[in-house]
Amino acid sequence: MPATPDDAIDYPVCSTPVPGGWQEVAPGVLWIRLSLPFQLDHINAWALDGGAAGWTLVDCGLGDRRTFAVWDELLRDALGGRPVERIVATHFHPDHIGAANWLVERTGAVFTSSLTEWLFARMLSAGTDAATDAAVERFYRRCGLASQTLDALLARKGAYSRGVPGVPATLTRLRAGDSLAVGNRLWTVIGGSGHTAEPVSLYRPAGGEGDGNGDGLALLISGDQILPRISPNISVWPTEPDADPLTDYLVSLKDWAALPADTLVLPSHGRPFRGLHRRADELALHHAERLAEIESLCETPRTAAEVTQALFPRPLDPHQTVFAVGEAVAHLNHLIRKGRLDRVSGGGKGGPDIDLYRRRASG
Ligand SMILES: [Zn+2]
Repeated sequence: MPATPDDAIDYPVCSTPVPGGWQEVAPGVLWIRLSLPFQLDHINAWALDGGAAGWTLVDCGLGDRRTFAVWDELLRDALGGRPVERIVATHFHPDHIGAANWLVERTGAVFTSSLTEWLFARMLSAGTDAATDAAVERFYRRCGLASQTLDALLARKGAYSRGVPGVPATLTRLRAGDSLAVGNRLWTVIGGSGHTAEPVSLYRPAGGEGDGNGDGLALLISGDQILPRISPNISVWPTEPDADPLTDYLVSLKDWAALPADTLVLPSHGRPFRGLHRRADELALHHAERLAEIESLCETPRTAAEVTQALFPRPLDPHQTVFAVGEAVAHLNHLIRKGRLDRVSGGGKGGPDIDLYRRRASG
């Protein structure tokens, strides 16, 4: 493959696996495509050939029967019935970790992720209690959502455990900087934060001359921390309403500069691409533009629901609405932290329980 200039994004892998299918993208690295029943209709999983030690699988798809049936075929065909050594979940979201427990039980593999991602998955799959339900309702009510939308969001209760029927009971913990041996190749755990609190990415430098596997490709399995065409969701959730994940995300975007510009990025959604630095710049610009747009919108005091509507004018289903509202609040909280906006309660619009955001006069 020719070198990619620093400022270009390209997609050097020409074909895409069909749902349930796979193809090799580098020696011993399989790209697996799994279906999702959402508008975002697929997730990529990765199988790394560790030779005699067995496969390392990165991400798992949803924990539903359709995905389990696909994995049964993949284990037999794509992986040739050979053992699975470990399963890595890049983060706790259902499309990544949902089938992990089933895979652990089926294959006997070790489960690995960061501590925070595993704890989140364990917590959320255990279901909610009355206090959490009340916090969720309070959060979305303060956003000023129409009552019909609010009812639809609250009716999603239990959505996580439907996609994640179980989470492995034990963890082999990954920390940023750890090395993971897969066969004779070492992958490095890259940390970061933003899309979730402690996601895991895996980086493998280009093969050296003497290792018998010199394929010349640096690889990054990026999870959802960086994606080629869509902006990874950066959201505030009802259980941590004052969080500022956007600051974490913007810091993490800068960290990609430490990796080679022509790294082949293997993202969880979309196609493998090169142009990591350019993509990080694009995403940083996207958020800067969004922040400027929100700041000027809030010249007139706005609810989070109004800001959501301005950012995402198309009709959204309840699944998309939680991400859209969460994303709007993430930007609002970031602007508050930066001293650009104030949040005031009970401003008269819509009722006393609804927050309004307004530009700080001296801003
Ligand atoms: Zn995700």
